[in-house]
Amino acid sequence: MSEQSSWHAFYGTAFWQRRRQLQLREHPLCKFCLERGVITKATVADHVQPHKGDWNKFCLGELQSLCTDCHNSSKRYVELRGYRMDIGDDGWPLDPNHPANRHR
Ligand SMILES: [Zn+2]
Repeated sequence: MSEQSSWHAFYGTAFWQRRRQLQLREHPLCKFCLERGVITKATVADHVQPHKGDWNKFCLGELQSLCTDCHNSSKRYVELRGYRMDIGDDGWPLDPNHPANRHR
């Protein structure tokens, strides 16, 4: 089983179904669309920081509500912010354009 498909099983757990439902109930609108002044119903509970298969991060990591379009288009996120949010193993953002890296 590849690493990717083992993460996939996380999304089938009752725990995740509950957490996803709760997130979408509390934040029913797509966050990225809202930032552009557009109201869109969110359908995806997305991890703000990639959990990379870490069960703890998957369970406890901060979530954001997104519509399918925004979720499938991380490119749009980069366009909006100018950088990616991916965090490296040292806890530092990977993208050299991330504000945290500009002072390095
Ligand atoms: Zn959206």
